[in-house]
Amino acid sequence: MLSLLVLALALSAQADSNCSESRGGQWPVTNLFVVVNKEASRQLSPAYVPKDLEVIPVELISPLAPKHQTLRAPALRAYARMHEAAAKSGVKLFIRSAYRSFDDQCRTFASKVAKFTTQFHSPERGFGYAQKISAEPGRSQHQLGTTMDIVFEELNYDFSIEKADKTPSFAWLDQHAHEFGFIMSYPFGDDDPENHGYNSATGYFFEPWHWRYVGVVAAKAYKASGQLPDDFLKTLESTQRK
Ligand SMILES: [Zn+2]
Repeated sequence: MLSLLVLALALSAQADSNCSESRGGQWPVTNLFVVVNKEASRQLSPAYVPKDLEVIPVELISPLAPKHQTLRAPALRAYARMHEAAAKSGVKLFIRSAYRSFDDQCRTFASKVAKFTTQFHSPERGFGYAQKISAEPGRSQHQLGTTMDIVFEELNYDFSIEKADKTPSFAWLDQHAHEFGFIMSYPFGDDDPENHGYNSATGYFFEPWHWRYVGVVAAKAYKASGQLPDDFLKTLESTQRK
């Protein structure tokens, strides 16, 4: 057990040291449609920090989450409108996590690797499972500043693959989020008997809390398309190279 813990800490330190490693980055990511996923060519630069980050009003943030969080201005404006509309329908939406820097994501991912390495008593399985549940640094949509994790009071502001999409709050989001420009990045998949909810097309588990701002026109078109988010966004990203 001790050696596993040492290994987990070593992996964590290794992931942390990668934080300062300079790597290339893909083309301008102020583009609302830019695809960020597990493809190496789509990795974001460690240096990329959106220029228009704004502090999220504290009343929009989960009481259990860090209070100082930011989003890009257009995403925050749209989210505030959605929050207000949801509240009028009796639905309370709370942000748990919004913009995360490359370094933040390094630490988040390293902590998942350490946790699952211990849980599975195997660094390989731990790393593999962490990759399904968390993005490696440079591959997180949270670095774009347009993406947030939304939690609900009825689930104690926590994440739940099994329960989140059964809540009235999720039903409201599913029905209305596109009207405010948001799409859910990681839809349900059930093609892995050992991992319920894992979607091999995205490489991630179902994340009913993870929403990305792409603008109202695109979000409505996406909703009507029946495509996977990245497939849909790939048809749009080259139209907005700025
Ligand atoms: Zn997320």
